[in-house]
Amino acid sequence: MTTSRSAPTITKTICCYCGVGCGIEVLSDARGRLSLRGDASHPVNRGMLCSKGRTLLHVVAARSDRLSHPQVRLDRAFAPRRATWDSALAHIASEFTRIIAAHGPDAVAFYGSGQLLTEEYYVLNKLVKGYLGTNNVDTNSRLCMSTAVVGYKQTLGQDGPPTSYADIEVCDTFLVTGANPAWCHPIIWRRVEARKQADPQVRIVVIDPRRTATAEMADLHLQIHPGTDVQLHYGLGRQLLASGAADEAYLAAHVDGLDAYRAACEPWTLAATAAVCGIAAADIAQAAEWLAGERRFLSLWTMGLNQSSVGVDKNVTLIDLSLLTGKIGKPGCGPFSLTGQPNAMGGREVGGLATLASNHRDFTTAADREEIARAWGVKDVPAKPGLTAVELFRALKAGTVKAVWILATNPVESMPDAQFVDEALQAAELVIVQDCYPTATTALAHVVLPAATWLEKSGTMTNSERRIGLLNPAATAPGEALPDSEILCRFATAMGFGKGFAYTHPAQIFAEHAALSRGRDCDISGITWELLKHGSQQWPLPSGSASGTASGGERLYTDGQFPTATGRAQLKAPAVTWRGEVTTPAYPLVLTSGRLRDQWHTMTKTGRVQKLTGHVP
Ligand code: SF4
Repeated sequence: MTTSRSAPTITKTICCYCGVGCGIEVLSDARGRLSLRGDASHPVNRGMLCSKGRTLLHVVAARSDRLSHPQVRLDRAFAPRRATWDSALAHIASEFTRIIAAHGPDAVAFYGSGQLLTEEYYVLNKLVKGYLGTNNVDTNSRLCMSTAVVGYKQTLGQDGPPTSYADIEVCDTFLVTGANPAWCHPIIWRRVEARKQADPQVRIVVIDPRRTATAEMADLHLQIHPGTDVQLHYGLGRQLLASGAADEAYLAAHVDGLDAYRAACEPWTLAATAAVCGIAAADIAQAAEWLAGERRFLSLWTMGLNQSSVGVDKNVTLIDLSLLTGKIGKPGCGPFSLTGQPNAMGGREVGGLATLASNHRDFTTAADREEIARAWGVKDVPAKPGLTAVELFRALKAGTVKAVWILATNPVESMPDAQFVDEALQAAELVIVQDCYPTATTALAHVVLPAATWLEKSGTMTNSERRIGLLNPAATAPGEALPDSEILCRFATAMGFGKGFAYTHPAQIFAEHAALSRGRDCDISGITWELLKHGSQQWPLPSGSASGTASGGERLYTDGQFPTATGRAQLKAPAVTWRGEVTTPAYPLVLTSGRLRDQWHTMTKTGRVQKLTGHVP
């Protein structure tokens, strides 16, 4: 933060919408009036912002219906009544104690969000896994990122995109699949557009059943039948093998699994692939040609691959193409999963899913559990995986989970089968919802806790390129609303766990998280709060390194060494178990979904900004 007598105060922060992670400067004049602009010094957006980022102050100003006081009701037949923080948290603590004593810790569950800051995620996981003794803490990242996590781990040995946005500026072929970055990651797309403008030899291939704004810009649009991605990936792989475009030297030195992969590709001739995918064989051959030879290629993908019952298969067979051509760990190359939410990556780093443990540890491994328990000051952490998002709501409906605490997300409108989620919450003994605005989910809560939102709190987030940035406050939260981490710490104290949660600033939480990462592949022990004040940093950044880039953080696997049992990457060859969406006389339509350019999730924030309703009324 810098000040001078006449100049406005400038607060540097990060956009809270998508995983691009644009830097923002908020200016406060002498009368406290706020304005904002893109941070020209930020390496991600270099001063640019999209329509959502540009209008963030309208969200901060939209306070007429902000949740500003805790509210409690014992019965949904009655309207919730205003309560003090102490009484609301004492009520929840008493109910949690009763339920856990009667049914065990797995009878309670938490459902969070990629909107949470890393410190909030960290405290949530420490509290639930370490102190309540259950791994029942999942988030909406389950729906969007969990298959990408598994895809990276199965092929490369660890979770995390090995690429950086800087690769965009030296890439020759962009393979965009299951994604519409022109609308959903606009600032990344501006960089892709600029790259194409700078070099007419650059090619963009878009795989998407819909003709999106991104597809409009493509040199080649492969408009496949919905759900036929794995077949297309194998068809491309077979063509690369047949045309001699596989990097035999790289495969021999650094990759396992070529024989099984070759066999899996074999049935997917150009003709067979074209028939299943509903596209021209010549177009598949053309796409393969643009991935081959000296051309540097990046794959960019999001929910079209991830949100699928065969999402892992789609991920691994796409990553296979980078391994097959040896185009990974090199400038302009690599498999680049784009995160949808602003801090889905931070959540992955703290182990913020029911099946993950801190800093890419594995809670089925005793040594990993011991390390975590020692750091958290508890005897042990549970080894049994917790309930994932869909399982969690099923368990609520079935009555095996009695209480759920929902943070910064609106599952009644965002989960598949909304009616079922509604019924599951109606069936629960206790529903706590922590958010900044009323939503369809807060309407079903017994306890509503008012949370501070963007520009009202401090913390960090990690974007799609493993870049950790600092968010600083420049506005006060309305009424009694509190930062999510403070709410959780106060609850921990009400449960009698105060000693483990006596933080007075999020910087202390970050330091604890960073220390726990030491020696891990996502080591950030070299990153301090003070360092982040001077600029964002990419992981890994072990202590003693000058910066994430200097320590190799800009790009992973530059040496061809992978953190697998053999030290080699793994080509995967899953069986094709799904033909894709097929119509029948009884089910004659295939429906698919996508986002609006100017709206975000269930529109809890963007829906309050009139300027953002003009694009699609
Ligand atoms: Fe915010 Fe994403 Fe737009 Fe950047 S591209 S301003 S992070 S919504």
